[in-house]
Amino acid sequence: MADEELSSTIILTSTSELESEIKKIEEEIKTHEQFDIDSQKKVLEELERVKKSISWLKIAESQGMWKSKTCRHGISGSCDAWNVSDPIKLGIPEDAVNTNQDGSKRVSINKFYSICITCPLYEANRINQT
Ligand code: SF4
Repeated sequence: MADEELSSTIILTSTSELESEIKKIEEEIKTHEQFDIDSQKKVLEELERVKKSISWLKIAESQGMWKSKTCRHGISGSCDAWNVSDPIKLGIPEDAVNTNQDGSKRVSINKFYSICITCPLYEANRINQT
């Protein structure tokens, strides 16, 4: 499959990165003298909403992990369905891409299971199911 079809399935930021960014912002707001109490309250409420969205992202991540373990295209920890010609453009970490002898580039789903979250090519591996 081509890179263009794959790009819409990739989440570039991890939930733990987002959570630590939010924590930093919260601390900054609490110590910032220019914010009055009402403004602080509004921004902190906004951050609470963002935190709720992160819990949905965590669910998506766990789905990605599960799919990476159960998809029939996952062969020895690598996705056999996508050939990514330009992983950097797609936001796939370089250390999660293996180049085969024929030049094809496959994604290590052990290292980057986010690729599986919304992948349209998922097919359950019937052999592994009981
Ligand atoms: S879900 Fe998609 S990206 Fe993941 S192993 Fe299957 S085909 Fe590859």
